[in-house]
Amino acid sequence: MKSASAIKIHPLNSEKTQNGKFSYNESPSQPIQQELLDYVSPDEILEATGLIEGAVCRISVNSYERNPEARRRCIEAYGANCCICGFNFGEKYGPDAEGYIHVHHVRPLSKIKSDYVVDPVTDLRPVCPNCHSVLHLSGRCRSIEEVKRLLVEIKRD
Ligand SMILES: [Zn+2]
Ligand SMILES: [Zn+2]
Repeated sequence: MKSASAIKIHPLNSEKTQNGKFSYNESPSQPIQQELLDYVSPDEILEATGLIEGAVCRISVNSYERNPEARRRCIEAYGANCCICGFNFGEKYGPDAEGYIHVHHVRPLSKIKSDYVVDPVTDLRPVCPNCHSVLHLSGRCRSIEEVKRLLVEIKRD
């Protein structure tokens, strides 16, 4: 796992706002930054939540996905199968991997107020790391339904 300092956002384009959070200013003349975001997995971004909160906000990855209690209750409610492709770690890798799954936070951070409390059943869904990456790929916030549709379209081709 990379440390927060391993993720570099160009200092000229990362400015701290009044509330102490970083805003990430994306511009077409700075292709390197988009490239950086393209290659950062949700896991890696999570390590840097405090550092580049603006960038994190844009791709809707946050600490709710890492909260052990919230994760536990989400998996309790939905099971440990990926809710997009159905992948199950226990089935594929055996007992050592049984129950492992990523948890995705479905509510965009931009719609969250400071007193927000995560509801593990409404706001979180179990997803495999592959589908999780596609949900956040290129800094976009795809919906679960959107990624499901991508899978169906590929199968049809
Ligand atoms: Zn999946
Ligand atoms: Zn996620």
